Amino acid sequence: MLEVYGGWIVLPYGIMKDASVIVEKDRIVDIGNAPKIRKKYKITRSVGSKNSIICPGFIDSHLHSYQIATRGLAAGKTLLDWLKIIWKWEGNMTKKQASDCARLAYVELISNGVTSFVDYTSVRHTEEAFKVASKLGLRATIGKTMMDRNSPPGLLEDTMESLRETERLIKKWHGKKGGRLRYAITPRFGITCTDQLLNGAVRLAKKYNTMITTHAHENIKEVEWDKKNYKKTAIAHFHELGILGKNTLLAHGIWLNDDEIGLLAKTKTSIAHCPGSNMALKSGHAPVLELLKNRVAVGLGSDVGAYHNFSMFDQMRLAILTQKKRGKIFDYKDAFKLATIGGAKAIGLEKEVGSLEKGKKADLVLLDGKKIVPKNDIVAQIVFCGDSSWVTEVICDGRILMKNRVVKQN
Ligand SMILES: [Zn+2]
Repeated sequence: MLEVYGGWIVLPYGIMKDASVIVEKDRIVDIGNAPKIRKKYKITRSVGSKNSIICPGFIDSHLHSYQIATRGLAAGKTLLDWLKIIWKWEGNMTKKQASDCARLAYVELISNGVTSFVDYTSVRHTEEAFKVASKLGLRATIGKTMMDRNSPPGLLEDTMESLRETERLIKKWHGKKGGRLRYAITPRFGITCTDQLLNGAVRLAKKYNTMITTHAHENIKEVEWDKKNYKKTAIAHFHELGILGKNTLLAHGIWLNDDEIGLLAKTKTSIAHCPGSNMALKSGHAPVLELLKNRVAVGLGSDVGAYHNFSMFDQMRLAILTQKKRGKIFDYKDAFKLATIGGAKAIGLEKEVGSLEKGKKADLVLLDGKKIVPKNDIVAQIVFCGDSSWVTEVICDGRILMKNRVVKQN
């Protein structure tokens, strides 16, 4: 059995000192006072020290690994202009480039303490991301982006071909590696997807019980396009098509009125909140407090490449700052929840990950406690002062993915 030891552990009800997490295969079998519980088990391996802080693995609920090569290009752009640059890259991207991007992105995710994520990849070469996630050991939800209208050459797909390829990828990858790998059906957004494609996406999601994820209500021009073409907003249109539901995760959700928030709550649809990207593309600030008040599950997303790194420390701080811009106070403990258990709820994995509890999957990170001074409020320090250099060890599904800041690459 593996013992993960720390001077402190962040538990759902608070901080425990001098604690150990006992891991058997992929699951947490016990958590408690280190000297007491380590006697009860046959420990064969141990990580951590009295200076370590044990924390749940972070969850990035929205990113585009293949856009890692385009980081920095969002400067001064808004969504629809920026997409033209992104699509040029994605349209010309080779299989080797896709594989390299996935590897770079996923190694960076690990070094930032992220253990679970949702990745949009692109229209082509989605399997490269699955192969890399499979090898590196991350808990990955990955989808092939679907685009069958208003799209440039290299990305524009035939509707039926897009659905066929999606189904092929679901059969090959969904639920593999003991459930560590999942497929997400991923229409890009309303502008680039016909209703025929969206109807097919809903059919496949029901048939294979997979997540659907897409972008919605991100940019005001996109919302205006939706209103002109659908004669209603995307949220209302998606509801009519049967897209909204407990397996659906919408990225952004900035331009929402009370009725739309109510519809998200009623249908149990989740939101991936990406404050860094929203600032970079000047999209606006999402009504996170109102969503949470209405019990909509909200996770945090880096949305790389619109944002430039996978730090959930950054996103927690930006979530607080962007609510301040709206004149609201967002508690740092709630920001921490968005990056952990809130993100797990948003991606449908709250029974397995997002908090450190007996019986859950062993997805956890160790932070360097020497950097946390003072230690009167460890969660506040993590949220306001943390960065990737604090992350020393990363464990996912009971496997050590990074030790002493070195990512194990198979
Ligand atoms: Zn995105």
